[in-house]
Amino acid sequence: MRDLAQGVARFQENVFPAKQGLFAHLAAHHAPHTLFIGCSDARVVPELITQGEPGELFVVRTAGNLVPAYTPGADGVTASIEYAVAVLGVTDIVVCGHSACGAMTALAEGHDLGGAPVVADWLRHADAALARTAGTEAGPRKVGALVRQNVYAQLTNLTTHPSVARALAEKKVTLHGWVFDIATGGVEALDAPGADTALAS
Ligand SMILES: [Zn+2]
Repeated sequence: MRDLAQGVARFQENVFPAKQGLFAHLAAHHAPHTLFIGCSDARVVPELITQGEPGELFVVRTAGNLVPAYTPGADGVTASIEYAVAVLGVTDIVVCGHSACGAMTALAEGHDLGGAPVVADWLRHADAALARTAGTEAGPRKVGALVRQNVYAQLTNLTTHPSVARALAEKKVTLHGWVFDIATGGVEALDAPGADTALAS
């Protein structure tokens, strides 16, 4: 924890004073414009990639940036999506995949996940994406294709959530699919996948 404590000290000494006014405002206001759904991967940092200020992004990060399709009953991802869309009123939702994603690599290369059965179950939420890349030869190209198809599949899953479906019907929210490339820092905005979802970028 030593590095983290040093980081906190640097934040308090060097960063916070310059943003004191912003934080004073944020202490009483929470109005992010974007729900950012990304991978938990430590290399994909939403606020760094977008250079957003505190208060701009409502962030949900899951292994593989997966968004389970809606089912009745409470779960953390659904509750966070509903809160962002129905309560905070975000106007944009980004689902961001990334290069070298461990989750997508495991699926694309058929890794044995016997030692991580919960992960194996969780990755079933990418079944549709995996099916779409079934004809792609194994290798880096397959991982890349799966990363993209997975963003599309999770955007589709997102539209099954009633809060998102309502906001889309009322044209209050726009969906975006991104892929972040770790090596270059590039962000690719994916095109709308036809009639697949109401995706816009
Ligand atoms: Zn990942």
